[in-house]
Amino acid sequence: MKKGLLIVFSGPSGVGKGTVRQCFMDDPRLNLAYSISMTTRKPREGEVEGKDYFFVTREEFEAAVERGELLEHAEFVGNYYGTPLPYVEKLRNEGKNVILEIEVEGMKQVVEKCSDAVTIFIIPPSMEELERRIRGRKSEAEDVIQKRLEKAGRELKLQDNYKYVVCNDIPEVAANKIVEIILDEMSK
Ligand code: 5GP
Repeated sequence: MKKGLLIVFSGPSGVGKGTVRQCFMDDPRLNLAYSISMTTRKPREGEVEGKDYFFVTREEFEAAVERGELLEHAEFVGNYYGTPLPYVEKLRNEGKNVILEIEVEGMKQVVEKCSDAVTIFIIPPSMEELERRIRGRKSEAEDVIQKRLEKAGRELKLQDNYKYVVCNDIPEVAANKIVEIILDEMSK
């Protein structure tokens, strides 16, 4: 059986990655599985352990790094995030195309290990719209919002590191573009 694709899906905080992903995730043609990351961040309201993230302590995270269990990991605005490797490999060996929703440093590590990873970067229509979306989430304190906005500015400059860049103006439209990209990559 053909091994599944490794798809890296990035974009600044608040750009709407989750919303876009929901629009294409269940498309039966794509045969996708979502890689659930490990993080030391506290759960936001409505987030579910083992569905959105595996929420762990700093000690637990560091132990996983030490044991070599993460495909990649990075610090983002004061918290650690990482991709558990065994789960990703198991899914890919079953033929699933695995999607990693991770930030830019993690993407670089993934591409170093797996040069044929399909990398997709989502951009907002404008910085003003991004700020509006981050504030609309109402889950973070002002200092965290400021840090996420500064980080977003830096991340947007790194979009040239990605194979595909898609603007999320209307989520369904962005999702359709991503469906086309994945179908094309699957046919190679
Ligand atoms: P959030 O706190 O908003 O859920 O995520 C913050 C950032 O960390 C987002 O850009 C998200 O894509 C990224 N992220 C989530 N999981 C991982 C991961 O496993 N590895 C890396 N490198 N970044 C991640």
